[in-house]
Amino acid sequence: MRILITGGGGFIGSHLCERLLGEGHDVICLDNFFTGSKENIRHLLGNHRFELIRHDIIEPILLEVDQVYNMACPASPLHYQYNPVKTTKTSVMGTINMLGLAKRVRARILQASTSEVYGDPEVHPQTESYWGNVNPIGIRSCYDEGKRVAETLMMDYHRQNNVDIRIARIFNTYGPRMAEHDGRVVSNFTVQALRGEDITVYGDGSQTRSFCYVSDLVEGLIRLMNRDNFTGPVNLGNPVETSILEFAQRIITLTGSSSKVIFKPLPADDPRQRQPDISLAKEKLGWEPSVDLETGLKKTIEYFTGVVRGK
Ligand code: NAD
Ligand code: UDP
Repeated sequence: MRILITGGGGFIGSHLCERLLGEGHDVICLDNFFTGSKENIRHLLGNHRFELIRHDIIEPILLEVDQVYNMACPASPLHYQYNPVKTTKTSVMGTINMLGLAKRVRARILQASTSEVYGDPEVHPQTESYWGNVNPIGIRSCYDEGKRVAETLMMDYHRQNNVDIRIARIFNTYGPRMAEHDGRVVSNFTVQALRGEDITVYGDGSQTRSFCYVSDLVEGLIRLMNRDNFTGPVNLGNPVETSILEFAQRIITLTGSSSKVIFKPLPADDPRQRQPDISLAKEKLGWEPSVDLETGLKKTIEYFTGVVRGK
């Protein structure tokens, strides 16, 4: 198949490009390189089945493809809050453009949605039937509401135009090729620990997240894309939940660092708890994560060790 991956130069997108090329597909990677990097895909550039297009999805584009993974969107709070209006445009206008493309060429399209559609959830763990608790006017809203509209657009193009859609609600994912300065907890803590700097826990660290290793997530995305008669939305994430303070201590232990934990103010609207219920993914996709946190973190630490040493 010929497969388009928007945001293919980013963290998750680059792993998806690599995996789909490995399966023998033709891959078109489209990216505006706002948060992604050519470094992430440099090793793929020599492959004759790989094409790279610098393009912003808020502008229309016509390509003949069989499948579209719409991954383009800054994902870390630091990046998506840098230009919040642009973030909303990427999720709304960008998704309209990709749905228009899918409609014209009859491609199947998968939208990278997020656990953020549940906001600061009052239902725990989060199931797909939960409608969420999202602040529509806060500093996270450009991302959360943008993704909620992207889901709405997917469902409406499906109902109105019969577009073949898939919606993945991705929970916190980590691994090699996360950007060093993206401000996310995994990259921040790992780089701080490797440099012997203080580990910055926001709030008292009692808030929770559940971390999924990137290869598991990519497997889930591919299974969802290729599963017939199932649009989702479906949660994709690792249900093993940890508090941020426990997570800091774990990183310190695994890196053997002398760093100390310091506490900083909790950002506005920071969700207090997050854990996916993955019953639906198990039932419909036969999917569940297989990489445990320690194994995944060791690989991530190895990657960031190279980055910190300037390799
Ligand atoms: P990332 O920032 O590494 O990748 C996003 C990519 O999209 C980058 O390469 C960026 O340059 C590109 N991009 C951004 N805006 C664009 C635009 N307007 N036009 C073209 N390209 C654009 O982030 P990631 O962690 O790889 O996330 C990928 C997708 O998965 C995002 O849609 C994100 O919302 C979603 N997601 C990620 C997580 C996670 O934990 N990593 C969790 C939930 C959802
Ligand atoms: N966090 C933290 N220190 C950091 C970066 C993040 O304590 O240096 C916290 C953040 O407040 C949140 C959690 O870690 O509670 C996860 O943050 P991240 O930005 O990685 O993801 P998200 O909040 O979007 O799930």
